[in-house]
Amino acid sequence: MGAQQVRDGFTELYGAVPEGVWSAPGRVNLIGEHTDYNDGFVMPFALPHTTVAAVSRRTDGVLRLHSADVEGGVVELRADELAPESDRNWTAYPAGVVWALREAGHPVTGADVHLASTVPSGAGLSSSAALEVVIALALNDLFELDLQRWQLARLCQRAENVYVGAPTGIMDQTASACCEEGHALFLDTRDLSQQQIPFDLAAEGMRLLVVDTRVKHAHSDGEYGKRRAGCERGAALLGVDALRDIPYDGLDAALARLGDDEEAVRLVRHIVTEDERVERTVGLLKAGETRAIGPVLVAGHASLRDDFRISCPELDLVVDTALASGALGARMTGGGFGGSAIVLVEAADVDTVTKAVQEAFAGADFTAPRVFEAVPSAGARRLS
Ligand code: ADP
Ligand code: MG
Repeated sequence: MGAQQVRDGFTELYGAVPEGVWSAPGRVNLIGEHTDYNDGFVMPFALPHTTVAAVSRRTDGVLRLHSADVEGGVVELRADELAPESDRNWTAYPAGVVWALREAGHPVTGADVHLASTVPSGAGLSSSAALEVVIALALNDLFELDLQRWQLARLCQRAENVYVGAPTGIMDQTASACCEEGHALFLDTRDLSQQQIPFDLAAEGMRLLVVDTRVKHAHSDGEYGKRRAGCERGAALLGVDALRDIPYDGLDAALARLGDDEEAVRLVRHIVTEDERVERTVGLLKAGETRAIGPVLVAGHASLRDDFRISCPELDLVVDTALASGALGARMTGGGFGGSAIVLVEAADVDTVTKAVQEAFAGADFTAPRVFEAVPSAGARRLS
């Protein structure tokens, strides 16, 4: 979505030009799934797909919200009347950001917002974080709040957790706020320390495909909560603050302590091995051994499917078909139960692998998947 189009849309809607236009991307996670609420490691990168928002300040306490992607007109709210979990519509995301900023003591006195997005919604590519972060960045600039990117990400997470009522980790918002073009973001979710890891697949003759299975993660909220509670229970049984505190070389001892608590064993094993896979991926990328991350991705998928149990037939079919037709690696990405998978391929194999996945879906009578190339792109920024 072009900045000019969104700027023009704002002017048409509100009868004045906006003070500025901002964008924030969706993301895919290369590796490190469900580790972010276990104080662990993640490694997302930003997509070229963005949410673009034209925004102006208001000083009268009124918040006007409009999305080109949603039926219905402008929604008008009062900034001082926002209350957590009072709104079940899309407006809860941007209103939640205003609420979180105000609750943290920042003088956000209202705004006019018009936005449009190219991030597929509900596909596990974090359209929700793109929406939150673009609003947070715009308000940070307009009200001169001087908050840092990681602080904006924290406030957006608070908006989603408390105001919207979705118990998500910190990865999505940090990715949208902090990623850099040509890099993946190695993030320690315990202290939010970050490293930008060069990740330029095109230069090395490879591509990363995203396969959106079009399966909406409808039941995922409850299952997400169950996994999260299960991980917390595992940590409590092992006497640690978070599963991050179980070192990889202490995994066998930890599992032995869990004995025949089969569920705890599976969840703990996924988180501890997944943290190790993130660190291994970082090491391989830094060493220039990019092709060697393929098997790490595959091992990550097996762990999510067999131990964490959050895959689904469509995601497994993408991974199995891609590998059988020559991909270097593949795994589901995001929260699970649908959404998207990523596939690492040699540039020359893109068409073969894409076709194989499409045919496999047709053969299984699944809805045709959407396949696109993911180029590591810029994080949130002001466009004009
Ligand atoms: P994901 O983040 O994986 O895309 P979520 O369920 O977390 O899925 O967030 C999707 C929700 O975010 C949508 O249902 C809608 O409420 C809101 N949303 C995202 N993008 C937009 C947009 N461009 N306009 C309006 N609402 C949006
Ligand atoms: Mg989301």
